[in-house]
Amino acid sequence: MKALETILVAKGLVDPAALEVIIDTYETKIGPRNGARVVARAWADPAFEARLRADATAAIAEMGYTGRQGEHMMAVFNDEATHNLVVCTLCSCYPWSVLGLPPVWYKSAPYRSRAVIDPRGVLAEFGVTLPASRTVRIWDSTAEMRYLVVPMRPAGTEGWSEELLADLVTRDSMIGAGLPLEPGAMP
Ligand code: FE
Repeated sequence: MKALETILVAKGLVDPAALEVIIDTYETKIGPRNGARVVARAWADPAFEARLRADATAAIAEMGYTGRQGEHMMAVFNDEATHNLVVCTLCSCYPWSVLGLPPVWYKSAPYRSRAVIDPRGVLAEFGVTLPASRTVRIWDSTAEMRYLVVPMRPAGTEGWSEELLADLVTRDSMIGAGLPLEPGAMP
């Protein structure tokens, strides 16, 4: 992406500022909306949650989200005992079909090494502090398997529609580097 960006800008084909806006939109808004809808459905529909646990690739495809870098998906569910964090230690494997483009930090060497060595330190930098009793489990993405974190459904959202629930699901919460928004903290 960066190489393409350099060429386009060098040739005067695109305005770099406009390109930044487009990339940011894919990283933080359009891309992750698919994943947010998957998580919201899993929260709202126990039958879908079961299918997502059993075969995430198929359950996600059911919602129409398929394509490159999403062929082999596994959903990992946070609960009171376990918090899941996704990294690609080798490069930048990422589930494009549900999360869009990976953020810059996900591709950075410090994240890729420290997520494994010191996950709680990394989480603290993202503003996430977990109970000491909770295990942090690391999932190393590869070309063969990509992971989607399903965070715990925030309290106080009983009866919410999938559409409203999806607004609570941040991109970072689906990587495990964040938590979903709380009701009332919505932007
Ligand atoms: Fe990779």
